[in-house]
Amino acid sequence: MTGTEIALIVIAICIVISIIIFIGSWLIHNKHLRLVKAHSELYNELIKLNKSYNFYSDIKSQYNFYEVCSSKRKLDCLSLYDVLLSKIECNYIYFKNLLICIQKNRQNYELYCKQYNKLSSKINERETKSLKIKFKTFKRIENKLYIQSKLNPQISTTIYIKASYTSPKGRNSYSKYRTFQYTEVVKAYNDYNRLKVQKQEYSYKVKIERAKMSDSLRYSILKRDGFKCQICGATAQEGAKLHVDHIIPVSKGGKTVASNLRTLCDRCNIGKSDKIE
Ligand SMILES: [Zn+2]
Repeated sequence: MTGTEIALIVIAICIVISIIIFIGSWLIHNKHLRLVKAHSELYNELIKLNKSYNFYSDIKSQYNFYEVCSSKRKLDCLSLYDVLLSKIECNYIYFKNLLICIQKNRQNYELYCKQYNKLSSKINERETKSLKIKFKTFKRIENKLYIQSKLNPQISTTIYIKASYTSPKGRNSYSKYRTFQYTEVVKAYNDYNRLKVQKQEYSYKVKIERAKMSDSLRYSILKRDGFKCQICGATAQEGAKLHVDHIIPVSKGGKTVASNLRTLCDRCNIGKSDKIE
């Protein structure tokens, strides 16, 4: 036998021994794993705990939204936070459900973690001896299972917003983007709701204020103003149609009270529209 042949045989033997050791230790590890899974109170309590919790699983870690601008100037002036607000408005139910699911996951996860942290190993050396496994090995595998089996639900998300403008014929392309963290998304959602309530309250107030204009109030203002337009002096006899007008418009906070009312002909009234004089 040559030296090369001997070297090859030695290498082959080494490889075979390594494979045997590898398979052997893999089998032993699997046996230990099964043993620990079957006898660890910590592991079995954790599995029971995991089964008692239901987390929403269809929450993504990020949602992407895109906005296309019609000009470069619009893109430059665009606030991505306002885009986020408009996306919330357009997909309100979607955002609402998403945030409710995350909120529920967060609450449940907090409870889950408290219970998870209370779990502890109860195995002792005497028991491991009867199971024919080293105490240290049992503890090591048990601890690994305890960490690996902890549930990891989605308790947050981010919203990525990208706005872009492409010049005609696609010569130039501009864009800007921002990723909103979960707390920012919650803030935007709350801001949107606050704005919505304010708008509703405002339109309700306007409605109430307009309803205060009764026939008798209208007549008393016409009479006070001598049945004349307070801008051009036109009268009904001259063919002018007279209106009672709010000096400060209701839409700008004006009240339906005599001091804020005046008689205007329809021409002057149209010219005035919602201007405050
Ligand atoms: Zn007039």
